[in-house]
Amino acid sequence: MRFYLTTHKRHWVRLTDVPLFLKSEHFVNAVKLDEAQGPYAVDSGGFSELQRNGDWTRSPRQYVDDLRRIWEHVGPYDWAAQQDWMCEDLIIHGGTVKGQRFVGTHLSVAEHQRRTVANFLELRSMAPELRIIPVLQGRKIPEYERCLELYEKAGVDLRKEPTVGLGSVCRLQSTKEGAAIVTAMAAHGLKLHGFGFKTLGLERVGHLLASADSAAWSSHARHRPSLPGHTTHKNCANCIDYAMRWRTRVLSALPSWQQPALDTP
Ligand SMILES: [Zn+2]
Repeated sequence: MRFYLTTHKRHWVRLTDVPLFLKSEHFVNAVKLDEAQGPYAVDSGGFSELQRNGDWTRSPRQYVDDLRRIWEHVGPYDWAAQQDWMCEDLIIHGGTVKGQRFVGTHLSVAEHQRRTVANFLELRSMAPELRIIPVLQGRKIPEYERCLELYEKAGVDLRKEPTVGLGSVCRLQSTKEGAAIVTAMAAHGLKLHGFGFKTLGLERVGHLLASADSAAWSSHARHRPSLPGHTTHKNCANCIDYAMRWRTRVLSALPSWQQPALDTP
């Protein structure tokens, strides 16, 4: 499994050679982009787009232009996520959780899936060279199966794709339901990427994933005092030293047969 450390600090790409996961918007707003020292992958930022707007405000054309610029300046990334439509209840119906407001798309799961597949086809035809990956969306296993069929009907054989994103499981990952979805989709022989994984989720289903990303280090750090000698900040929620230590600890705790190489990506 390849494990990507999620960060919103784009300059980390020049500070480390461990695999990183960054949202495209963090690169887009930069005047100068640093070249990556190690592997990285790009998140389309769909969760916050749909949370805030209930729709994609960035057109496929703009997104492709952003990805080209990132590829050119930061260097070839492993892959970039398509502009998918997550199917979590909050994203669909809207609401407020822990002070975070979701406007809601007020569309059906089936419509989210239809739009996800259509977006993938559009992006791939616009820029087949940009390593844009398809994402499976749904809520329950039969819906994920239906999404797989939608791709098949559209002529996309997900078994042949080097990476397939597994969407909307991040809140379910440590539950039985989440594990069942990952197991069912992995049984199709897909090389799955799990978005937004936490320690427990990795322990349970990490062996079924080809890769995963996690930002859990940041909230872990937010609830603890800063590292010894880190006197300029209250906690290490934005700190690369903390993130690296967390990564080493989490990966070392996984069974050896699912551990990625820690230092040589
Ligand atoms: Zn720190």
